[in-house]
Amino acid sequence: SPTFCPACNSRMHSKGLYTRMISHPVFQDGSFLIIRLKQRRWRCPTCGLQFNERFPFVERYKQFTNLTPILVLDALKDLNASTRSVARRFNMSDTQVHDLFTAYVDMKRLPLTEYISIDEVYLNIDPEHNYAFVIMDFTTGEIIDIVENRRQSTLEDYFHRIPLNERCIVKGIISDAYKPYMEYVPRFFPNASSILDSFHVMSFINHQLNIYLNDLIRSKREKLKKEWLRNHPHLGPRDFSPSDTKEIILLRDYRWVLLKNERDINRSYRRYYHPKLKMNVDTSTIENMFFEIDPRLKRMHGLKEDYVSFNHMRFETEKEAAFALKILIQKYRRSTMETFEKIAQFLEVHIYEIALSFTTLTVSRKSEDESEKYYARLSNGPMESFNRKPKDYKRNARGASNFDYTRNRILWSERKDSAIRAVPKPMEQVHSYSLRKKTQKQRSKTYNKKDKTEK
Ligand SMILES: [Zn+2]
Repeated sequence: SPTFCPACNSRMHSKGLYTRMISHPVFQDGSFLIIRLKQRRWRCPTCGLQFNERFPFVERYKQFTNLTPILVLDALKDLNASTRSVARRFNMSDTQVHDLFTAYVDMKRLPLTEYISIDEVYLNIDPEHNYAFVIMDFTTGEIIDIVENRRQSTLEDYFHRIPLNERCIVKGIISDAYKPYMEYVPRFFPNASSILDSFHVMSFINHQLNIYLNDLIRSKREKLKKEWLRNHPHLGPRDFSPSDTKEIILLRDYRWVLLKNERDINRSYRRYYHPKLKMNVDTSTIENMFFEIDPRLKRMHGLKEDYVSFNHMRFETEKEAAFALKILIQKYRRSTMETFEKIAQFLEVHIYEIALSFTTLTVSRKSEDESEKYYARLSNGPMESFNRKPKDYKRNARGASNFDYTRNRILWSERKDSAIRAVPKPMEQVHSYSLRKKTQKQRSKTYNKKDKTEK
């Protein structure tokens, strides 16, 4: 149609058609739709102004329609989809997908809330980013932020940059017993208390019991060796090749008798032939034989179960919880078993952090039914279940990406209302990471050359 010059209103002349190939990846079945776009160039004969015909569905110099970024970003919401697989699906290169995502997605830290969970997640992107540090809102399960590593200097800088009045909002920080985490609480969060996740207390107790069992196996083996040497006076300790006794088999393969929570043991009364033990057994025979090995095992089991039942109790206040725990600690001390003295010591050090973990809150977590609300005890449970996702992502992505990209991918897929940038980042910024890396490499190369010539 006739076009008039926007500057002088003269009728413009066509300088001919130019064909552009525009990809419009709307198909989901692996076929590609490519639009052959004939674009006219106009020239004003009076003032000399020139421009190309414009189309609402594609921008200048772009090889993709305006819908493409939205489709690609949507596909990248699925953490199981690798950059490469999305690139294939949209007939783009890996770099194009990578750059598009970087240009549009820039996830910000969410504001801190009253109860937050902290933990590290193994990302292993490069030696600088082995463990990332994750902050989660306990009540909503939303990831507040992922920090590039858990080093003290990084985290101190990070916390300092959050305004003090925002840090003052935090009432409780749930973590495992990793010392630096607990030390951050009074330093950076003046109104917060540390809360020790009950799962970590349980695994500390089990760890101590495992140590006892390993020592027991060792002493049983030693005894066996001594006896054997006594019976074979002409042979040395090197000739001793033990076959495992019934006791050692039980201590090694049937630790669950001691470690597993009584109520979780799946009992079977069906007897079967056990080839290693060379006898017919069912669950209770195994348990009885296990406890007969060492008289302490039965007592240890009872003391451990005491903690399990304490852990399942409900308390109105943290003071009540602390009181009940104190009684348990005294019982452990009276046991005069080294293992439980160690456990008592641990519990004593963390008594208030454990007591606080009995606090229940109304939570609304991401679930099928968004409106669902329920009471939950403070724990790192939601964090533990989140932690699997970055690991899976790392496995699918097979390395190859940097921390910021990984962080954005995880947050982009995790957050309920993740918005894209209204104005995408300019390309210089998108490429800045890879460009910086390149120039650094080049710099070090030239430096090395200089070094050599100087020598
Ligand atoms: Zn003109």
